[in-house]
Amino acid sequence: MSGAPLDLVIVGAGFSGLYMLHKARELGFSARVLERGDDVGGTWFWNRYPGARCDVESTQYCYVFSEELQRDWTWSERYSAQPEILAYARFVADRLDLRRDIAFGCEVATASFDAATNLWAVSAADGQKFVARFVVMATGPLSSASLPAIAGLEAFAGKVLRTSAWPEQGVDLSGRRVAVIGTGSTGIQLIPELAKTAERLFVLQRTPNYSVPARNRPLDRETAEEWKGSFREKRALAKTRPSGTIYRVNDRSALSVDADERERVFEDRWQYGGAGMVVAFNDLTRDEKANETVAAFVRAKIAETVKDQRIAAALTPTDYPLGAKRICLDTGYFDTFNRDNVELVDLRERPIGSLDATGIHVGSDHIDVDTIVFATGFDALTGAITAIRITGPDGSSLREQWAAGPRTYLGLMTAGFPNLFIVAGPGSPSVLTNFFVSIEQHVEWIAACIDALRAGGHTRIEADKAAQERWGDHVNEVASRTLYMKAASWYLGANVPGKPRIFMPYAGGVPAYFALCQEVAADGYRGFTLG
Ligand code: NAP
Repeated sequence: MSGAPLDLVIVGAGFSGLYMLHKARELGFSARVLERGDDVGGTWFWNRYPGARCDVESTQYCYVFSEELQRDWTWSERYSAQPEILAYARFVADRLDLRRDIAFGCEVATASFDAATNLWAVSAADGQKFVARFVVMATGPLSSASLPAIAGLEAFAGKVLRTSAWPEQGVDLSGRRVAVIGTGSTGIQLIPELAKTAERLFVLQRTPNYSVPARNRPLDRETAEEWKGSFREKRALAKTRPSGTIYRVNDRSALSVDADERERVFEDRWQYGGAGMVVAFNDLTRDEKANETVAAFVRAKIAETVKDQRIAAALTPTDYPLGAKRICLDTGYFDTFNRDNVELVDLRERPIGSLDATGIHVGSDHIDVDTIVFATGFDALTGAITAIRITGPDGSSLREQWAAGPRTYLGLMTAGFPNLFIVAGPGSPSVLTNFFVSIEQHVEWIAACIDALRAGGHTRIEADKAAQERWGDHVNEVASRTLYMKAASWYLGANVPGKPRIFMPYAGGVPAYFALCQEVAADGYRGFTLG
């Protein structure tokens, strides 16, 4: 890249990067998106495994910034499947003519800030170079896969697949002997699909998960039209909710009603389907005793669904609250264990030893398989950022600065790295919310900030260390009051060996966080230094 520096380099062409590019253009900034994949869509480009589906309702899991996009796109199901969400990303890219400013197959390797010019030099793995005034990390929270190091992987003679990089042309696993490692949201969606055609399916589970039925169904025309006609009001309402998502609210404590009433409310939500189960009462996410009532309800459902009670027990989470890890939504997951061709391997009883040419040693047994699927999660929130060698003006590395856990101011910037923004970064509500709500808010905040810098004749903005420390302490303090701290989740980095256990997203909820961001900007970017 030669010539004048760009205003923005945006890393990632998922939904954050696409909107950031559009917004930058709207304000007359030059921008280039660098995307390692060969199409738009981010997480929905990579995670194309069978059964991949959103766990937020389609009517809410979309942009609202454009009347035209709302008008001309109609979702076909209550919860969109991956192909439809990817088609939506392509539709947006084409409709807004975004592709001409996206470099595909361009994996960012380094970014370094030059204090003399206030410019970022960005280089890609293939040697391409870019210079920009601002860098926006639109890298997504779940885009750096975490793959366990299992001894003997190279000796395995069969097929190895990763849900996070599923072959674009698909894979036919019918008639095969398959092992799936991992029973998070991904495994729980994948397993029922593979079970339909595999000769044998071994489900290797380390920790059982709470899952509730999605009850996906076609989206009827009336509902779709109703949302199209009121999407702005609906989004405004969503922003008044802690998770930025509209669920039926019940402002009663689970402990204020009798057991029959609780059962009635839980059963109603179980039949309706979806993550609204977590807010069936107002204290399920805060009070351990209240949480135990919903956890017990879901445990009873597992026992009711799975015929073999020994298997049901192994599938039942008992040692952490429901919702402390992100709740999973499924379509026939627990039923799958009633099939003759499916076997649950409880890794707590029979841990993975090593692989050999024909399969996996678990405990003292050997499982003969010809395909192994890793559904083992992500180095969440930080992995995609620290994978890039980012150096600040004094040569210090972001990876090193975050070695003890990420520190940011509002999840938007990190001290010591001027002009580097993060969309929905650690320290913002991010993964605890409907991601589209968080994306739009952050992109709009960043765009307005860069616009304000231009208007004020500034070329540089940086988060103050003191403001960042205060914010980090607040993020920790808020998290410490929640039940999130009671599970070994990816929110806490607990799924990646050696990762510091810090609760990364901000659990203070959308309304308070959005209001604070607005206030900070209105107050001349309080907590930031402009230069
Ligand atoms: P995850 O929730 O982190 O689950 C990973 C699974 O792999 C867990 O069961 C984990 O066990 C297991 N695992 C990891 N390392 C292992 C090892 N060394 N040996 C054995 N098992 C191991 O990851 P995910 O399922 O990909 O989901 C991540 C997030 O992505 C979700 O929480 C959700 O936010 C998002 N997602 C959303 C959807 C959707 O919209 N419906 C779908 C998929 C994913 P432990 O629990 O014991 O660590």
